[in-house]
Amino acid sequence: MTAIQDLSKLCVHTITTKPWSVEEAAEAYSAAGVSGMTVWRDVYADRDPQAVGAMVRGYGLQIVALCRGGFFPHATAAGRQEAIEDNKRAIDEAAQLGAPQVVLVCGAAPGQALELSRRQIRDGIEAVLPHAEQRDIQLAIEPLHPMYADDRSAISTLGQANDMAEEIDSAHLGVALDVYHLWWDPDLEAQIERCGAADNLLAFHICDWKTPTTDLLFDRGLMGEGCIDIPLIRGWVEAAGFQGFHEVEIFSTVRWDSDQTEFLEEIKQAYLQHV
Ligand code: ZN
Repeated sequence: MTAIQDLSKLCVHTITTKPWSVEEAAEAYSAAGVSGMTVWRDVYADRDPQAVGAMVRGYGLQIVALCRGGFFPHATAAGRQEAIEDNKRAIDEAAQLGAPQVVLVCGAAPGQALELSRRQIRDGIEAVLPHAEQRDIQLAIEPLHPMYADDRSAISTLGQANDMAEEIDSAHLGVALDVYHLWWDPDLEAQIERCGAADNLLAFHICDWKTPTTDLLFDRGLMGEGCIDIPLIRGWVEAAGFQGFHEVEIFSTVRWDSDQTEFLEEIKQAYLQHV
């Protein structure tokens, strides 16, 4: 892989710099030369997404996606219906923000068979897809590492995400590939190729897997700090035709406790050296 030369495809998720408000993040990302921002719903909470979107674009940043919708499975019909309503709201918010994509962390109901959860995920996506199509928002199924199969995602592999995207078959549905969740999969290269061939590869999320990892959720590493061969996977993703942003998504209590301006500088350097 040829090294990345510039920051034109560098996007940062707001959760990566969680201590910052969205205004602070937009100003800092822009000053650092970052090109894109993926907005997490918590940063605008009770505010007007349209105004937040305009503010972010005012700093010259492209809004890449809204994180996140999903969590469709539920033991009760009322719970599943509430999830559908919440996903419609997320789609509305994405349209207001000017985010072209909503990332789906699809969910799982603890104690319920994964196969049933996957059926409920499919039903949920099909229920909200017309809403996404009307507003021209793309939905991206993000498979999560199997350590989250109990309560966060019954979709654990890119193969399962590809199956679902191909079965539902909409121009507004595809897949988000996160190296943290999928790096271990012996079938990854073939499934990336398949995803690209079906025109379903919508997003590329990056960070690293630390050894030992001390927390299943909040110990993600900066690119280069762990064992993931990110340039190899980027090569597969580009060979599959993906030309979108490289989205840095790091949940790390250690990093959140550090100086965010210095952390952002480290992200830039790590991006240029290890992606
Ligand atoms: Zn991700």
